[in-house]
Amino acid sequence: MKVKPTLAVGSIALDTLETDAQQQTDILGGSATFFAVAASLFAPVRLVGVVGSDYPEAGWRLFRERNVDVSDVQQVAGRTFRWGGRYSSDFSTRETLFTELGVFESFQPRINPINRHSGIVYLGNIQPSLQLAVCREMAGAPTVISDTMNLWIDRYPQGLEEVMAKTDIFLINDEEAAQLTGHNDLDSAARDLLAAGPETVIIKQGREGALLAAGDSRRQVPVFPDVEVVDPTGAGDSFAGGLIGHLARHGLADLDQAVIVAAATASFTVEGFGLEGLLAATTEGIGQRAEIIAGRRD
Ligand code: AMP
Repeated sequence: MKVKPTLAVGSIALDTLETDAQQQTDILGGSATFFAVAASLFAPVRLVGVVGSDYPEAGWRLFRERNVDVSDVQQVAGRTFRWGGRYSSDFSTRETLFTELGVFESFQPRINPINRHSGIVYLGNIQPSLQLAVCREMAGAPTVISDTMNLWIDRYPQGLEEVMAKTDIFLINDEEAAQLTGHNDLDSAARDLLAAGPETVIIKQGREGALLAAGDSRRQVPVFPDVEVVDPTGAGDSFAGGLIGHLARHGLADLDQAVIVAAATASFTVEGFGLEGLLAATTEGIGQRAEIIAGRRD
């Protein structure tokens, strides 16, 4: 069976990350980058985004190596999106040090006619207006899976509402779900999020796992056990990459297993600094971890 490509938009970034153990400046990152590296292990990925004139060759090389289609990634004069974050000692909280939109400020997504016919569209974490612009460019009725972040919930709640109305599967973490709905208990948060449009909501809960909610059904998926966390950056986006890669390959009905694969994929990401952990992941390794996670749930 030929696997249909997934089209993804999100940030392509240079990250400055700080943990107690180390600090690195301007390393490859961004929601779209983590997503593409993870999803491309399972299915073809087409990226939509923008980078500045300072974007390093190493980024392009990475996408080439992973066969990621970058024909809809524009390179323009200016600075690449930059984000800085610092983690608490136990990684339970993270502080955003800065968000510098750079070339994303004036970005107009353009999508090649061929790429408009993609099976799944992933609206990764970026301004809701850009997520909506990508939706508008698509032909047919692709499955829309989207994600967001506290900054966009704060700044553009209405845009986010529009994104949710167009979304089939909505991904969010527990803190953001509470911020967006005003509910600290996940069941009520899930109910409100489902009422906003998506058929399925997945609430990521860090080391507590993830909640898969659809209608009245609630399924809890645990994490891979005993992971030594080095840096959690990109865990959410690689979770999305594993999820969507699996759905693109095995069909949309296999959502339960897709969430398990997502959790297994994210477990690799947190084991290394920046992209390092995820780059060491293979489909076989993810499959082995997925079996262990499935066993913990049964
Ligand atoms: P995650 O740890 O899964 O939330 O993803 C972290 C990645 O998201 C980093 O590589 C950042 O470059 C990127 N990022 C952080 N804040 C934003 C934002 N407001 N919009 C888009 N991407 C962001």
